[in-house]
Amino acid sequence: MAILEPVIGRTIKRKISTMSGKKLPFIAGHKLLYTCNLRCDMCPFWRRKDEKLLSLEEEIKMMDSLASAGVSFMGFEGGEPLLRNDLEDILKESHKRFHTSLVTNGWLLKGRASSISRYLDYLFVSIDGRKETHDKQRGVPSSFDHAIEGIKEAKKYVPVAMSTTITTNNMDDIKYVVNLAEELGIGVNIQVSYDYSTADKLSPDRKKLYDLLLDLKKMKEDGAPIVNSKEYFDTLVNSWYYGIPWACKPWSTVNIDPQGRIVMPCYVLNEYAGEKKVWEIDIKELWNTYDWKPYESCNKCSLSCYLEPSIFSWRKPSMVSERIFGSIADYIASIF
Ligand code: SF4
Ligand code: SF4
Repeated sequence: MAILEPVIGRTIKRKISTMSGKKLPFIAGHKLLYTCNLRCDMCPFWRRKDEKLLSLEEEIKMMDSLASAGVSFMGFEGGEPLLRNDLEDILKESHKRFHTSLVTNGWLLKGRASSISRYLDYLFVSIDGRKETHDKQRGVPSSFDHAIEGIKEAKKYVPVAMSTTITTNNMDDIKYVVNLAEELGIGVNIQVSYDYSTADKLSPDRKKLYDLLLDLKKMKEDGAPIVNSKEYFDTLVNSWYYGIPWACKPWSTVNIDPQGRIVMPCYVLNEYAGEKKVWEIDIKELWNTYDWKPYESCNKCSLSCYLEPSIFSWRKPSMVSERIFGSIADYIASIF
């Protein structure tokens, strides 16, 4: 049972510490690199020229610091993580310490699905719509076919969900994506695009999303495999159309750039301009001295990686069972 301590023990210890008003990160998001083999219109990362990667030893140093600060969930992303040849080694180290997930565009997935999945608790593959819509938005023909082939292979080994970003180009395809996920026997996580300063501006007019958000919530209630909580859709509807804001808690998530630097207060406002390397600072001290107050009322983005942990409540049984017990159960299942 000692191997269960990393996630369950830290989740309990963190809950006890935060009851006294302390802030601690719960989730880490780490960009392994910016380089990507696709060219998505809404993405600022493949355009960056400041790529400098951590070695495996540095990745381990980073993970140890995050584990000591109370992080239980690690999500790797990019760029395209499968472009790193040492990805399996990094995931192996992560899986010893954290509930581990990965986001990929799926182009290279089929051939490595088995080798990466043994160290993953959850895999997200980006799908934006029908083949034509997806390939156009992703900027490279056949992206859709590669991703679907990868999904079919990966779901043999690990729970898989599509990761879908709503933009002005694919609003009419979102229900198709949910139905496709159902057909493939996987989940789907949906979020609304954010307009980064260095990418194409594809975030849809919020007025046009009202019906879609309500429809997605209804689909979830009717059993569609939507990974977002019902509260995610309620929160967007309340804040965008009824003037009831949500309180952002960017401290729930610690984001780390490809050089191992912490990005504060969140990667949306900072656009991945990291400062100190994770292992050079005392994360617990930084988290409890940083002025988070101005960001509580921000509501600028609606990215599920920030919004979901911000609205999470131990008092809502459906959220606890979906977000915490479900994730820990996946972790336990992947160990045995
Ligand atoms: S696949 Fe991901 S990292 Fe690559 S260009 Fe698209 S959004 Fe950016
Ligand atoms: S709502 Fe604001 S502070 Fe919160 S994650 Fe989004 S941009 Fe950052």
